Amino acid sequence: MIVMKFGGSSLESAAAIARVAGIVRERLDRRPVVVVSAMGKTTNRLLSIANHALGGRREAALRELLELKQYHLRESGMERTVDDHFQELAELVRGLAVLGELSPRAVDTISSFGERLSSLIVVNHFEKHGLKAVHVDARKVIITDNRHTQAVPDYSETYLRLAATVPPLAQKRVVVMGGFIGATADGVTTTLGRGGSDLTASIVGAGIGAEEIQIWTDVDGMLTADPRVIPGGHRVRLCSFAEAAELAYFGAKVLHPSTLLPAVEKNIPVLILNSRRPNVEGTRIIADNVHSSNVVKALACKQNILLFNIHSTRMLMAHGFLRHIFEIFDRYATPVDMLATTEVSVSLTVDETEKLEHILAELREFAEVSVEKNQSIVSLVGENIRHTPGVAARVFTALKDINVRMISQGASLLNLSFVVATGDVKAAMQALHDEFFSELDPAVFDVAAFEAAGVSQ
Ligand code: ADP
Ligand code: ASP
Ligand code: MG
Repeated sequence: MIVMKFGGSSLESAAAIARVAGIVRERLDRRPVVVVSAMGKTTNRLLSIANHALGGRREAALRELLELKQYHLRESGMERTVDDHFQELAELVRGLAVLGELSPRAVDTISSFGERLSSLIVVNHFEKHGLKAVHVDARKVIITDNRHTQAVPDYSETYLRLAATVPPLAQKRVVVMGGFIGATADGVTTTLGRGGSDLTASIVGAGIGAEEIQIWTDVDGMLTADPRVIPGGHRVRLCSFAEAAELAYFGAKVLHPSTLLPAVEKNIPVLILNSRRPNVEGTRIIADNVHSSNVVKALACKQNILLFNIHSTRMLMAHGFLRHIFEIFDRYATPVDMLATTEVSVSLTVDETEKLEHILAELREFAEVSVEKNQSIVSLVGENIRHTPGVAARVFTALKDINVRMISQGASLLNLSFVVATGDVKAAMQALHDEFFSELDPAVFDVAAFEAAGVSQ
């Protein structure tokens, strides 16, 4: 069995779903289990509808709801299914407007509609294209805790249910499930966090002992740089789980950061593939280290983070100063990404958070604190960074015209990260890309495309 996950951009229309059906048909002998995201940008639109309702913009909420319904109707032709789901959704939205309150639980209920619908629609299209398909409601098999909007799977229960349900069905039919959604043991709908369909794919792969997990998206694979930040990145043919996890964590949206955990545990290779160019070999992510003459595998960036500078108000570093600081971030469930310390001060970065004012108030009880917004982390990732002298010197030479605010070599040793103002991200990424990818190791990077673009020699 293999797991094939298709993201929203691979399912945005009936034509796109037909293309997906073709890709699946060619792999029927591997007994594919298909995990799907919501169609197109449906999740964003559902959240926008909820926010309109909450803000008292009833008309705007209803208008967007109608548009979303028509889109689903047009691309599926499934009148009854679409009607039923949108009726339920409209009732929820009306309730929201009356209550004026949007709990995380309600957010999950509303955002789950994207994958609930897309999975039913994909089954229907598959059948129309002559593929025998069967729907499995993800909420019956992916069991999570009740941390709504960021729910954590109960892996042992989920694996038991997947192993009991999916393989018998996959003998004769293509199993189709919605990604991103799950339910608590009591049956309350939850979601795994934005981009969470990748994680569903990996959990399903681990639960059924799949031979491979394929993440089908709208790019040729993991690229050496985020294409929305700088164009001209090259496809990484092969990288390790550790490298891919680090890239995902530091902003490479092509993979959800937790995706690889279940795959690593069961040692299942993960592939990133392009549903618009299915013959491109993509990126293969494997357990072993991937040696390369290129010291860096790829760059990543995480934009608009917060940079905290925290000074002890006492002359000497008080005993417990660091512990105190971390307890506060921990209490507000706010992960710290980068950290640098001196005797009396600490600089650290966190994602933008609604809890900023609370965190600041608590820190200011024992420290002087400043916070800088519009900062970004730029990271170089590669197993070789730890073994290669002179990488930092090359980085600083490349960035000589850019103000680098903070630098740290990750505890994992395969990442070198620094903070720059968000306005400098493009220039920093371009300079680093020129420095580290002007020559490519053909065993690890797609040199053919590089040469075709006329970059080399
Ligand atoms: P899907 O809908 O298939 O889940 P996503 O939008 O979540 O797709 O992820 C794919 C996008 O990730 C790409 O279109 C690209 O803009 C972005 N991306 C960011 N960093 C990278 C990278 N290093 N390599 C490839 N894509 C990246
Ligand atoms: N549809 C969800 C989202 O947009 C999950 C996913 O696509 O992975 O976040
Ligand atoms: Mg995604």
